[in-house]
Amino acid sequence: MSTSEAHAHHSHHDDDHDRHFREVDPGSLLKRNRAWVEQRDMTQKPKVLWIGCSDSRVSESIATMSPPGVIFTQRNIANQFMLEDMNAQSVLEYAVTRVEDHGLGVDHVVVVGHTQCGGVKAAMEEAKSPHEESFKRHAHTTNLVKWLGPLVALVEQHPGSTEDEICELNVKAQMKNVKDALNLIDCAKNVRVHGWVYELHSGLLRDLEAKA
Ligand SMILES: [Zn+2]
Repeated sequence: MSTSEAHAHHSHHDDDHDRHFREVDPGSLLKRNRAWVEQRDMTQKPKVLWIGCSDSRVSESIATMSPPGVIFTQRNIANQFMLEDMNAQSVLEYAVTRVEDHGLGVDHVVVVGHTQCGGVKAAMEEAKSPHEESFKRHAHTTNLVKWLGPLVALVEQHPGSTEDEICELNVKAQMKNVKDALNLIDCAKNVRVHGWVYELHSGLLRDLEAKA
């Protein structure tokens, strides 16, 4: 490609980009915000707490077409719910007790794993490699390695499992952790715990307890 061709190509791309930007100019965004304010309902009555992965492709409200106020959320790498994780534990407590103070409170906790999960992949890699080598390789991501510790242990307990199988086992392990935590909260006896897998390719959510 000559320099002028490269330039022409580049300009064409810029035009497309500019046209795209004009279609959603700041003025129209502000107008759309005013229209949204007219019809929005800012009450928070979530009946579901979603414990999912931080992955940018698995946003709970988008995947379920839910408006604000519907889903209470805790997301982290590989949808973990550890009993010693103060962040996750306080989200659960708030969802079932504090929100209930206002006549609300969630009735369901859904643990949602997903296929092609980077956290699951990293844990499987970690379980394969000798610890010394892995320490060198992850010298700059020690927090992540610590975070994935329980998931690495899960992989080691189920040798030969596929990535999808680990994904499901992980969801089930976190469901058990959620149930254990709920047992310690007085008003949470009737909260139901569910396990789902978000299939990245199809976009479908699959209930692990659904009869096939
Ligand atoms: Zn993930």
